[in-house]
Amino acid sequence: MSTKAYAAFNAVDPLGPHTIERRNLDVNDVFIKIDYCGVCHSDLHTAQSDWGPTNYPAVPGHEIVGRVEAVGSEVTKYKVGDLVGVGCLVESCKHCHSCDEDLEQYCENGFTGTYNSKNSKYGGITYGGYSENIVVHEDFVLSVPTNLPLDAVAPLLCAGITTWSPLRHWNVKKGDKVGIIGLGGLGHMGVKFAKAMGAHVVMITTSESKGADAMKLGADEVLISKDPEQMKQHNYSFDFLLNTIPVAHDVNPYLLLLKLDKTMCMVGAIEPLPGVHGGVLINKRRNIAGSLIGGIKETQEMLDFCGEHNIVSDVEVIRMNEINEAYVRMQNSDVKYRFVIDLKTL
Ligand code: NAP
Ligand code: ZN
Repeated sequence: MSTKAYAAFNAVDPLGPHTIERRNLDVNDVFIKIDYCGVCHSDLHTAQSDWGPTNYPAVPGHEIVGRVEAVGSEVTKYKVGDLVGVGCLVESCKHCHSCDEDLEQYCENGFTGTYNSKNSKYGGITYGGYSENIVVHEDFVLSVPTNLPLDAVAPLLCAGITTWSPLRHWNVKKGDKVGIIGLGGLGHMGVKFAKAMGAHVVMITTSESKGADAMKLGADEVLISKDPEQMKQHNYSFDFLLNTIPVAHDVNPYLLLLKLDKTMCMVGAIEPLPGVHGGVLINKRRNIAGSLIGGIKETQEMLDFCGEHNIVSDVEVIRMNEINEAYVRMQNSDVKYRFVIDLKTL
């Protein structure tokens, strides 16, 4: 069916209105009318072809929340009227080792992303949440807690799970000293989750002006990464670091913050990391690792946890036609702390 959307048409021009085709409902499909869609830095990377050539026109958006308006004949998990979400994944092979372990994001045959992905089953390219509606197989639809403000739930579908998953995987617990690097969409959720897990949370930021906010979000301390003296005082003291910086950067000053055997997990810079100093790793048996979003089961666990603990994102709701301005602000690290599009304005 013909659907109104907003798209990037090339790597340089502003996004603008566009019309896309959504497939007719297959037997296991859920038809979702989208209420809100968060704006992830990955949307901007994709719009600009930062990660290789994008398939234009591209409709970004993988922090989707809305209501079920129709279901296919064999859908059992959802019914019309349910509050639901869609994150970064809309399909995977469902039979490889990773899929068997509920780690569809590491599907050995390649998962289908919510946007700018080849749609192996139905052909064409997937289109994301900067649109009126979306059609998704029920296995990739999440149930959204009904006690939370819906606009502030949207970013949980990517920023939430991308920070939740590594904090859980590296078993962050009460008393650990955890550093969250970069206070943007991902970082602010990282602070909230690490705090909820009982950690002593240090916000590691380049922006002095964000310090007071970081404390309000739950950080116990703020460390200004541009100040080498401050950094030095924290050397060899962290149990875990979550690095959300969206571009390549010198990772060594951060690695030096880790204690013996501890790990810095990269989630931001999906590109070569220049000049990792072997000595910094070798001398304290330190680890550098990476993590990609999270599986569907884990995403549901995270959403349920947020419902129980009243955790949502801090959002600035925008109109669809304000997206280009939002991208410029995101590029300048001027987001508090996630833009969310109100799709009524499309
Ligand atoms: P964001 O809202 O723009 O936040 C990024 C923050 O990083 C900025 O607010 C800034 O924080 C800091 N920063 C920016 N440029 C920097 C630089 N040159 N040096 C040091 N710090 C810098 O972005 P986001 O939506 O949180 O996404 C972060 C990255 O994660 C993006 O690259 C995105 O594509 C990626 N991502 C990865 C996954 C995954 O599965 N691994 C999932 C979603 C997103 P301060 O002002 O506090 O320094
Ligand atoms: Zn994202």
